[in-house]
Amino acid sequence: MEFCAVIFSAVLVSVTSSEIHHHAIHWTYTEGALDQMHWATEYPACGGKKQSPINIQRRNVKHNPDMLQLELTGYDAQKGDFTMSNNGHSVQINLPPTMKITKGLPDTYTAVQMHLHWGGWEVEESGAEHTIDGIRYMAELHVVHYNSDKYENFKEASDKPDGLAVLAFFYDDGHFENTYYSDFISNLDKIKYADQSMNISFIDVRSMLPENLNHFFRYEGSLTTPPCYESILWTVFDTPITLSQNQIRKLESTLMDTDNKTLRNDYRIAQPLNSRVVESSFLPRLGKGTFCRQDEIESRLLRIEGLITTLGKQMNSGGMRGPKPTRHEPLGLFPLVLNFQEKNAGSYALASLSHPMSLDSFTACMHVLTQTDNVHTVISYSSNGNDNELVISISTREVGLWIGNKFINLPYSFKSQDWANYCVSWSSHTGSADLWINGMVGEQRKLNEGYTISPGGVFILGKDQDVLLGISNSNAFVGKMTDVNVWDYVLTTADIRNQMSCQRNSTKIGNVFSWGTTGLSLYGGVQLDSGYRCS
Ligand SMILES: [Zn+2]
Repeated sequence: MEFCAVIFSAVLVSVTSSEIHHHAIHWTYTEGALDQMHWATEYPACGGKKQSPINIQRRNVKHNPDMLQLELTGYDAQKGDFTMSNNGHSVQINLPPTMKITKGLPDTYTAVQMHLHWGGWEVEESGAEHTIDGIRYMAELHVVHYNSDKYENFKEASDKPDGLAVLAFFYDDGHFENTYYSDFISNLDKIKYADQSMNISFIDVRSMLPENLNHFFRYEGSLTTPPCYESILWTVFDTPITLSQNQIRKLESTLMDTDNKTLRNDYRIAQPLNSRVVESSFLPRLGKGTFCRQDEIESRLLRIEGLITTLGKQMNSGGMRGPKPTRHEPLGLFPLVLNFQEKNAGSYALASLSHPMSLDSFTACMHVLTQTDNVHTVISYSSNGNDNELVISISTREVGLWIGNKFINLPYSFKSQDWANYCVSWSSHTGSADLWINGMVGEQRKLNEGYTISPGGVFILGKDQDVLLGISNSNAFVGKMTDVNVWDYVLTTADIRNQMSCQRNSTKIGNVFSWGTTGLSLYGGVQLDSGYRCS
């Protein structure tokens, strides 16, 4: 992919000031009753249309050459008495009011505090909040300011549409220690436990930022933590700050949260952009100096790669692990396409599985063609009275995944009016879930580690039909599907990419649910269709 190497950068902000959340139930990122999927139940703004962070798609960014560079006053070295604390969600340094953004924004904004978001769940897990073209940096710094022209203080400004401005910077890992961070990193040990704080007598924020501040993205968004007020004008800088791997590791492993667990992965996942436009102060380079149709080239390369791996596989086919059926001649129906029409939104296909669904890991792949923006449930597997034992749904921005009644979404930013290939894999051992779209992997998520999907249930293509409550058309699948397969293991990248091949008999079919082989009973007007994805 050299033609169009992706340049990563992203930004994110969230305000984790303890003054603005007092609540009976502690909100969390991933655990407990008030994890990020449920913030909006207690903090309605979290379900708004202008939420942060976002995935910044450089191809869709609007270059605005009139955007002014920021003038940062008072950011240089200064002595004083500054509090550095562990608020249970992050490390925060309170900043002096002499630090201001004096030019480049509609008003003057005065600094309040800065804090970081990081990952660290596993060795390679990144933890920035904003992503750039789906790429997540190691960590992210937020320097929070309030509009001091219009408001008395941070608290008054925090829920006003023009109240706050946050500068966001990404962290990258490198080989050399960043000595401007040495004191900061070594102080983390002194505020290891939630609500601990210390005083620092010297601060030099400018030196903790990248040299180049000319390249940035700008958009209107929100606090990335409850109460999620939509009050932030975000400036996300393209140039990352580099820390050494050891410094990153120290950041990821030192602080504890309010439950005395290591504070990790304190980031919110990307929120829908909706009607917002992200502006940039510069022309983001998508390739070597020019804009190019990156997606087009990537998909062609994938096709070529697919052909090469197909050849390779044919040359050394033979025992890996477990029984992996090759494609049988499927009943003269090849290529089999199912058409779920809008007028029959209650339609579904019931499968007679040849292999029990007792799964510690799986991969499910499918080719889907949908034309509406709804949520489309592709696979519903219910067992033991549990409706959401394994459910995979697709919408325009994310794939929803239920395992054992627990849910995550796997966000993506791919638009297609054409057939698209989706593969979802999950492993109980690590709880890692991955989404691949047309052979490209997205951000990894964690779900239901240690769980085993129970056998003996009902496997349906389309939306599960609830006999007692009647048929609800919401989340029903409308569109066409083909080449749906489920395996009881995690496929290799090559096998996943090979799913896109159009060569008959060349792709691997599932050993749990096998397209063209597993028996299907069609209900509610599902049609067989002749428009195969390759024709
Ligand atoms: Zn933040």
